[in-house]
Amino acid sequence: MSLKCLFGHQWSGCKCGKCGKMRNEGHNWTVLEGKCTKKCSICGKEYTIEHKWNGCKCEKCGLIRDEGHKWNGCTCMICKQYRDENHKLKLENQIKRCEICGIVKYDFDAVKQITDQKLLLEIALSSDNAARAAVQNIREPDEIAKVAISAKISDVAYLAVLKLNSLRCFDLLEDVATEGQHESISKSAYGCLKQISNENALKIRSERIKKATKHASVREEASRVFSLLNT
Ligand SMILES: [Zn+2]
Ligand SMILES: [Zn+2]
Ligand SMILES: [Zn+2]
Ligand SMILES: [Zn+2]
Ligand SMILES: [Zn+2]
Repeated sequence: MSLKCLFGHQWSGCKCGKCGKMRNEGHNWTVLEGKCTKKCSICGKEYTIEHKWNGCKCEKCGLIRDEGHKWNGCTCMICKQYRDENHKLKLENQIKRCEICGIVKYDFDAVKQITDQKLLLEIALSSDNAARAAVQNIREPDEIAKVAISAKISDVAYLAVLKLNSLRCFDLLEDVATEGQHESISKSAYGCLKQISNENALKIRSERIKKATKHASVREEASRVFSLLNT
């Protein structure tokens, strides 16, 4: 205690006007504008007061909680939170689209009948189970390579690599080895190149791949093969 206040502090709310000592009483609470927080105007201490919930959202401060949502199918009408269920699916040319969120759902057998290449690519790149059916019907090698590089489902990307392999699309397999999203797929694509390329071409491709690929395991393998062939 400071000598100044030897005979008692001079409290002004939570703070002594003479020595500056604080105490945990006498705070001057005010509610912060647009928040569910009270703050002492003297010492700055804060605490949270009760929210006023309207379903999942506090009417006063706008805070969102993960309960009390007002679901309209897949989307909460208050906070727009999304769930992958209860979609309002409407059939439009062989695919089903949700009227609320726009998500597309496919039917595996229906997809087998689709020939529209643009639509097939969209399906093959999606995480829908029918992507496996879609990739089988894609004809253009460039489009197949897009699937191998960017498909969300790695099995689907692998099917695309096998197609590129049987079509002997060397350049595209090299693109997949370099740019594929899934490391295992890039590795498979490089594996195909090792089997179908002649030595000189493989050496040139391996040199480019080891410089450009973003996957460590592919880089190591390409470096190894390159040094073997470069002696
Ligand atoms: Zn004092
Ligand atoms: Zn205070
Ligand atoms: Zn609140
Ligand atoms: Zn909500
Ligand atoms: Zn939906």
